Amino acid sequence: MTVLPTDKFATKAIHAGAHIDVHGSVIEPISLSTTFKQSAPSQPIGIYEYSRSQNPNRKNLEEAIATLENGKYGLAFSSGSATTAVILQSLPQGSHSISIGDVYGGTHRYFTKVANAHGVESTFSNNLIEELPTLVKPNTRLVWIESPTNPTLKVTDIQLVVDTVKKLNKDILVVVDNTFLSPYLSNPLNFGADIVVHSATKYINGHSDVVLGVLATNSKEIYERLQFLQNAIGAIPSPFDAWLAHRGLKTLHLRVRQASLSAQKIAEFLAQDPNVIAVNYPGLESHPNRDIVKKQHRDGLGGGMISFRIKGGAEGASKFTQKTRLFTLAESLGGIESLLEVPAVMTHGGIPKEAREATGVYDDLVRLSVGIEDVDDLLADVKQALN
Ligand SMILES: *Cc1c(COP(=O)(O)O)cnc(C)c1O
Repeated sequence: MTVLPTDKFATKAIHAGAHIDVHGSVIEPISLSTTFKQSAPSQPIGIYEYSRSQNPNRKNLEEAIATLENGKYGLAFSSGSATTAVILQSLPQGSHSISIGDVYGGTHRYFTKVANAHGVESTFSNNLIEELPTLVKPNTRLVWIESPTNPTLKVTDIQLVVDTVKKLNKDILVVVDNTFLSPYLSNPLNFGADIVVHSATKYINGHSDVVLGVLATNSKEIYERLQFLQNAIGAIPSPFDAWLAHRGLKTLHLRVRQASLSAQKIAEFLAQDPNVIAVNYPGLESHPNRDIVKKQHRDGLGGGMISFRIKGGAEGASKFTQKTRLFTLAESLGGIESLLEVPAVMTHGGIPKEAREATGVYDDLVRLSVGIEDVDDLLADVKQALN
């Protein structure tokens, strides 16, 4: 199926990378073959040679991701973390990178415990836009942002970061982790980012049954470098996982839209409940970055993630998470089912208390990943658990 640039998101989600094979299969079969026949030495019959280098299901997914992110090129990896690792591996030895402070824990770990071992030094900033001019050094090659942040949902003006960085040095790459929004809500390449990355484990696959990572870019040079590393390092997804993630992505627009609309109602309810101290949700008019949200997110939607401080301290948070019926107490996010967790002792448990609280991750903070169950049932569940 050829997708036109003028096609809307839903049409692209369903048809991008969805090619009809020689048998006319409407859904592409899963191609498990590790190797592909050649007609003469070094002359493959088609475009495939060996499945680590390229595989039909992975290629379909990569094409779909590139299309949905308004990029020219897409690449898929065995996890979001492998995607991060490959990007950081692509930096020259002795280079410097700058990241927002409350970046995903695994990304922080890679910067500080792995990338440094191959000579890439990193700086973290909780006030990136203002501090960039003083943080950028002659060897700075990368700026990493995540918007909204996890779990306090601060939103960064991507265009402003790009403009500031490129003015300082146009060779510095700006990478945006877009996992929390998905390509349906925001397309960082539109705002000038060089690379957009996702843990497709979350919204893109959307069914909590695949671990996978993807990236998209408009630069041929970046694509070729990262594709070389994808093959050289070999952290690739299996054909089955690529096929599943591609299947999941076809309903991305329906899932993310519903999750956002439901999250909006739940956040508005939480904001007026006397048992709640504060609510972080980009869809609320009271959100400190609401003006950026309106410019950067589709229809100003806030996404499916909410965090809030509950009365009663750590104990209050712990009790609440054990009283919900529909929200399952578990890490991760972005699936069809609603989940909740207490970041201070779960996803962010490894961060020292002071550093944690400096970014707003208090002991009484509860994070919700709103799924696509009926919103009335979800609201009733939150209400009864709060009571
Ligand atoms: C989960 C996540 C990752 C890591 O992805 P994996 O697929 O678990 O390796 C990176 N960034 C964000 C924002 C995430 O939520």
